[in-house]
Amino acid sequence: MQSPLSQPVIQVALPLPLRQLFDYLPGEDVTIAQPGMRVLVPFGQRKLLGVVVAVTDKSELPLEKLARVIRYPDGDQLVLSSQSLQLLKWCWHYYKHAPGEVVFNALPPLLRKAEGAIPPLPKQYRLTTAGEARLQQPAGRIKAQHRLLGEMREGPVDAARLRAVTAAWRKTLACLRQQDWVRSETQQPAQLNPCPGPVLTDEQRVAVDAISETLGNFHCHLLDGVTGSGKTEVYLCVLERILEQGGQALLLVPEIGLTPQLLSRFHQRLGFRPVVTHSGLSEGQRLQAWAQAKSGLARLVIGTRSALFLPMPELQIIILDEEHDASFKQQDGFRYSSRDVAVKRAADLDIPVVLGTATPSLETFNNAAGGRYRWHRLRQRATGAAEPRWRVLDLCQQTMKGGISAIAMDAIGATLEKRQQALVFLNRRGYAPVILCHECGWHAACQRCDANLTWHKAGHRLLCHHCGSGMRLPVMCPECGADALQGAGEGTEQLEQMLSQAWPDTPLLRFDRDTVRKKGEFDRLSEQVKAGEPCLLVGTQMLAKGHHFPKVTLVVIVNLDQALYSADFRALERMGQLMVQVAGRAGRDQLPGEVILQTHYPQHEALLTLLESGYEAFAAELSADRQIACLPPFSYQALLRSDAHNKDDVRAFLNQAKQLFPAGEASVYGPFPAMMERRSGRTRWYLLAQANSRLVLHRQLDGWVEKLSRLPVARKVRWAIDVDPQDY
Ligand code: ADP
Ligand code: ZN
Ligand code: ZN
Repeated sequence: MQSPLSQPVIQVALPLPLRQLFDYLPGEDVTIAQPGMRVLVPFGQRKLLGVVVAVTDKSELPLEKLARVIRYPDGDQLVLSSQSLQLLKWCWHYYKHAPGEVVFNALPPLLRKAEGAIPPLPKQYRLTTAGEARLQQPAGRIKAQHRLLGEMREGPVDAARLRAVTAAWRKTLACLRQQDWVRSETQQPAQLNPCPGPVLTDEQRVAVDAISETLGNFHCHLLDGVTGSGKTEVYLCVLERILEQGGQALLLVPEIGLTPQLLSRFHQRLGFRPVVTHSGLSEGQRLQAWAQAKSGLARLVIGTRSALFLPMPELQIIILDEEHDASFKQQDGFRYSSRDVAVKRAADLDIPVVLGTATPSLETFNNAAGGRYRWHRLRQRATGAAEPRWRVLDLCQQTMKGGISAIAMDAIGATLEKRQQALVFLNRRGYAPVILCHECGWHAACQRCDANLTWHKAGHRLLCHHCGSGMRLPVMCPECGADALQGAGEGTEQLEQMLSQAWPDTPLLRFDRDTVRKKGEFDRLSEQVKAGEPCLLVGTQMLAKGHHFPKVTLVVIVNLDQALYSADFRALERMGQLMVQVAGRAGRDQLPGEVILQTHYPQHEALLTLLESGYEAFAAELSADRQIACLPPFSYQALLRSDAHNKDDVRAFLNQAKQLFPAGEASVYGPFPAMMERRSGRTRWYLLAQANSRLVLHRQLDGWVEKLSRLPVARKVRWAIDVDPQDY
């Protein structure tokens, strides 16, 4: 027996919203606890699954008060490496979040449960000599077995391939193995078998060389390339080099960017199927992806935000495509920026990170301008296509039809006449964003949010796009009883209706979250577009990204005016990014493209800069304005967000919290109501802490957060810290 004094103390992260770790003593188990192991521990009356974060020899509590670990579900296997733990520790300190929630966020969902287990490595199946001989014979009466054998003709295959042949593959395979025709073995890492790509342009070659030169060292690269300039081709060339040397690579894409087209392009060029992971997969699939990444079996992982935390022992590069995309910021729970954490992970591992985009965020833009990132510009479209031509349409005094001016309608007609395709962009789904009574002025508002209900005509419903609640469309005005309800403004559903009336013989494809619900629907629609017949596309920002539609030569941007005079200081930046992305859909191939921008403010200064001088000049101008106003990225911010059913509790909490803000160079402002003050029935306010130095801000935040949980009124509200906030 060890004496109680020399007992190791195990610090455990538990999935609780508490900013602390919990101390335990080792169990009776023989396993020696190590950081990164999962443990089952008693917690009050419950048993909780946790992860060992550290093993020390002291505790702030007397040792005899500490409970013992019940068991180690995975024996001595680790679920987090010391490198992963180091990154997660940085995350919970930097984002001031509860360690347990940060740690659990990094695990695949099944390993967040005690029943979940680290899976064995996947198997592959291979013909034996006897099996090959049997395959040469006619199938005879064993047709299903023969078909499975045939699937293995070219070499070993995995379970997914066999499942595709027959649903009863397990049973059939068992028969084959009984006959000794097939044997199983642990799957081997995918073999790189690259197909030659196009000859790189000079700009691409320079970027590939510069990035490759930094392999093995931390470097941040901004790959700033206009849409269609061949950024993906640059990734592919760099990846080829890394994979050749046996390294692993991680490519993060925005939620909307993970399309089968992208995957098949990687598959085709590299000669193997990348491992894919995102939150839409089943828990079993996510666990498999995790296990393959961890074992090194997965050479290339392509995933959305959460893939950033996958264990990858041989990781040699992280690439973030569309780095400016808002989906890289997690907006609830553990709020983090996967871009910023990716840079941190690359720095820890001493490997390069590549941020690719046509429209850098101002944060990245300034890091590149300040020389902290290496800046690679791709200004030519790789296929030689010209940049689309802009035409600004002043909407004042235009004849309008359902939100589209007569001039734009003519342009659409002319495009279809030439047997080309036109894309109409409006970032608002539904039929009309507001419905109101022409008699008394009543309008349909959400009972739970500060928002209007959107009229969805086909479904006869009014829906809140913020909390999901809604009602049937009333026949009469609920206020005055008049039969005078009408929509105000347009959404994609209305454009679809109007345009298909104007061109009844032309197929119209609508892309928004109402039409593209089902898996595979997006691809079905986009295949139809790619087939190249004349058609009209109507859609939201779902259409803005990455898709290569060679026959689209006209883009009409219906309305982005809201952003020009928004209270959100990032609105202009986002508008510029969206405009450039949408415009990038036009004329990607040999045909020249045109973009019509409808606006009431054709003289808006930022708009003019963007159109006349391009995104880089636009970003520089916004940047100068931000600097004068001391806004990010020229200052550093954190929010203390709070919400509750009762507004007084929220304000009381924030007012008391403000009093506790430590003195120093960082200042705290507010409380302010959130941009949408009420959402889902809760009132939302915030305090804004800001400083000119990150270090200063964080020093004061650290002292503050500790005191906040001790405020009695904190128990009546929900609160969270949002470091480097993106919305307010
Ligand atoms: P981005 O990712 O910048 O939008 P892509 O890599 O998708 O650009 O390239 C756009 C199109 O140009 C694709 O069809 C691609 O195959 C093609 N392409 C890329 N690089 C070259 C090149 N060097 N020569 C010819 N075509 C290229
Ligand atoms: Zn009325
Ligand atoms: Zn609502």
